[in-house]
Amino acid sequence: MLPIQQMIAEIEAEVGYTAGMTGRPELSEQVREAMRQVPRHMFVDPELMDEAYDNYPLPIGYDQTISQPYMVAIMTDLLEPKPHHRVLEIGCGSGYQAAILSLLVQKVISLEIVGPLARSARERLARLGYHNVEVIEADGQFGWEQQAPYDGIIVTAAPEDIPQPLIDQLAPGGHLIIPVGARYMAQELLDIHKVTEDEVITKGVLGVSFVPLTGGA
Ligand code: SAH
Repeated sequence: MLPIQQMIAEIEAEVGYTAGMTGRPELSEQVREAMRQVPRHMFVDPELMDEAYDNYPLPIGYDQTISQPYMVAIMTDLLEPKPHHRVLEIGCGSGYQAAILSLLVQKVISLEIVGPLARSARERLARLGYHNVEVIEADGQFGWEQQAPYDGIIVTAAPEDIPQPLIDQLAPGGHLIIPVGARYMAQELLDIHKVTEDEVITKGVLGVSFVPLTGGA
C-alpha cells in the first residue's frame, strides 16, 4: 500500500473508533478525497519525509507542529465545507490544513502569528498551486474583521477561552471548530454552530492536545 493510502486507512479506522464522540462514523467523500490529494510530505522538513504519512503530528520549527492527519480530517469534516464557502483558519503553520480546505471551498484566509512560518507557508502554497489561499501574518485572537463574515472558522491552536471575535465573525449557519482549554492540559475540541445571529449551539466533540493559541490583548 502507498504511504498515503495507509494514512487514509488509519484515518478511517480512527474516525470509526471515535464515531461515538464525533457523531461521524465516516468522513464525507469530499474530505477523504482532499486528504488523498494533498502531498503531506511537501509540508514537512526534508528529514521528516519518511514520516510524513504517519498518523501523528510532526515538528515544523518555532515549537509548532503540523497536526495529526486524523485531526485535520475530522476537523475539516465537522466544518461542513461547501464549494461556495469562504473559510478562516487560525494557525496556518505549515499550510497543510489550509491546502486541504482550499480543495473544498472557494477561498481560505489563513492567519499565522509567527512571521517566518507565515512566509514559508505562503511561498509553499503558491509553489504547489493552492492559489485560493491567502496567508496573513496576524494574531488570530482577533479574527480578521477585514473579510468577515466567514462561512466557517477552524482554529488549530488552543486558547483557554473562546475568542469572542471569532463568534462575531462567523456567518449564520457556520461552524467554528476550535480546541479550548489550558496549555497542554485537558483540552476539548468544540463544534460551535451559529444557527442564527442569536442562537449558538456548542457541542464538545473530543479530548485533544494542541499547541497554545498565543497572542491576545
Ligand atoms: N494548521 C497547521 C497547524 C499548525 S500548529 C498546519 O496544518 O500545519 C498551530 C499554529 O498556530 C502555529 O503555527 C502557531 O504559530 C499558530 N498560532 C498560535 N497562536 C496564534 C495566534 N494567536 N494567531 C495566529 N496563529 C497562531
